Amino acid sequence: MESIWRETVEIPGRKRAEGFLEREIVVIGAGMTGILTAYHLQRLGKQVAVLEAGRIAGGQTGRTTAKITSQHGLFYHKLINDIGFEQARLYARANQEAIDAYQSIVEEQGIDCDFRRLPSYLYSTEDAEILRQEEAAASALGLPARMAAVSELPFPVKGAVRFGGQGQFHPLKFIRAIIGDLEIYENTPVKKVHGNCVRFDGGEVRAKKVIFATHYPIVNFPGMYFARQHQERSYVLALAGCGRLEGMYYSIDPGGLSFRSAGELLLLGGNSHRTGKNTQGGAYAGLEEAAYRYYKDCRVVSRWSAQDCMPHDGIPFVGRYSCLCRDQERFRQGESGQGLTGGRKGISPGGRDWYVATGYKKWGMTSAMAASLLLADLAAGKENEYERVFTPQRCHVKAAAGSFATDMAESVKGLVKGWLFPRKRREGTAEKCWARCSHMGCRMEWNPDEDSWDCPCHGSRFDREGGLLDEPAKLPAGKKE
Ligand SMILES: Cc1cc2nc3c(=O)[nH]c(=O)nc-3n(C[C@H](O)[C@H](O)[C@H](O)COP(=O)(O)OP(=O)(O)OC[C@H]3O[C@@H](n4cnc5c(N)ncnc54)[C@H](O)[C@@H]3O)c2cc1C
Repeated sequence: MESIWRETVEIPGRKRAEGFLEREIVVIGAGMTGILTAYHLQRLGKQVAVLEAGRIAGGQTGRTTAKITSQHGLFYHKLINDIGFEQARLYARANQEAIDAYQSIVEEQGIDCDFRRLPSYLYSTEDAEILRQEEAAASALGLPARMAAVSELPFPVKGAVRFGGQGQFHPLKFIRAIIGDLEIYENTPVKKVHGNCVRFDGGEVRAKKVIFATHYPIVNFPGMYFARQHQERSYVLALAGCGRLEGMYYSIDPGGLSFRSAGELLLLGGNSHRTGKNTQGGAYAGLEEAAYRYYKDCRVVSRWSAQDCMPHDGIPFVGRYSCLCRDQERFRQGESGQGLTGGRKGISPGGRDWYVATGYKKWGMTSAMAASLLLADLAAGKENEYERVFTPQRCHVKAAAGSFATDMAESVKGLVKGWLFPRKRREGTAEKCWARCSHMGCRMEWNPDEDSWDCPCHGSRFDREGGLLDEPAKLPAGKKE
């Protein structure tokens, strides 16, 4: 089944790119990030082309739950401890301003996309104290937070933090309205990026600036994003017969549920896991069981899943592509970065004119808006006060250490399995076992809920026949990048 967004909106197709093009700026990826970035750049008078591997909003944006909120789970108390009050205040403000930025575009362009301002609640059925701590941190940072009672959920809660004036919308209606005369090419997967030259089958775009808006960065070196984040998958049901909610809800409890209304439907989300770690299945069944327990007359209208990148320190990476100050210095001196891949195989020497946005940790609506405004300014040579908080050149050792260690262990496990048992078949799952991921060679695991081969190392996904479903891989399973 498809998401209700994709079922209800058809975005007219665009042709694929052909031949040799020259533009000021090229954006790779036409999800919310790529589209908004191109939109802002065009408004700054820049000549920009967008290259999309599949269809516009055919990636994670087409499968989001589309809450537009600065309430990013249980986050702000930890953030202040990790990066200090001033930087945390900037993070909070960038995301709160993103809600207003959506509203401005919607009003300015008269877009009918079911945009609504409404409160968002972070709740727990177990612990109110930790929520009070979060409320104090968020309020101190200037966010519209307060403790509140919750009466419209189908179970009692111990406590909830309410953020007033948040938003929700239909993301595809919004995107359909803003793409207007943007130059977007569909069905044009980028195969290589070499300095300022972006190559696809049958042609290339040369541009002064290259913006990677591919959800997970598709070039390994420089940047090394594969060592700085992992991907997590979550599941959603659209339910009829549950009534309407006046707020959006997100649980901080293990196995907790997310709620929002969309017209007459209720979107119930949950059952997150690291991509590649759902070998037993049951994610949809678990959600359905909860749905029938809480709304006994409900009916499942649709179900879908999506995944997002989880950065080790919890902050998106938005800015210059390379992670290392040393690389930046080299770039400034005009030398191209020769990473391991680049040096050995002639792929992707990184340029000083590369930019990236990734690591939204399932809060990609406000993050994409904040990222697009920042990237548009950087690419246009303008200063932006949020550059420092999101810069990929940061290094928050204390905040990132735990997740880094877990990710490294998972990657080593996946790689070792990939090489020790390359041909292992698994009974009763699929006719073919695409043992290794084309991204970095890890062994993939079967996900029975989605009938897909998922890589536990970095989250690439492939269908039963090995066809590519999700990046960072660029080639089908069984091929080598
Ligand atoms: C279950 C779930 C629910 C969520 N709900 C919310 C929510 O309520 N609110 C919220 O704020 N966030 C939410 N998120 C997060 C949000 O959906 C994502 O962060 C956001 O959609 C990411 O947008 P994007 O543009 O970066 O990526 P995408 O939408 O994935 O776009 C990237 C595009 O790049 C293209 N691409 C990839 N490789 C190439 C290539 N080689 N060449 C050309 N193109 C390429 C892809 O085809 C894709 O179209 C949710 C996430 C999940 C998993």
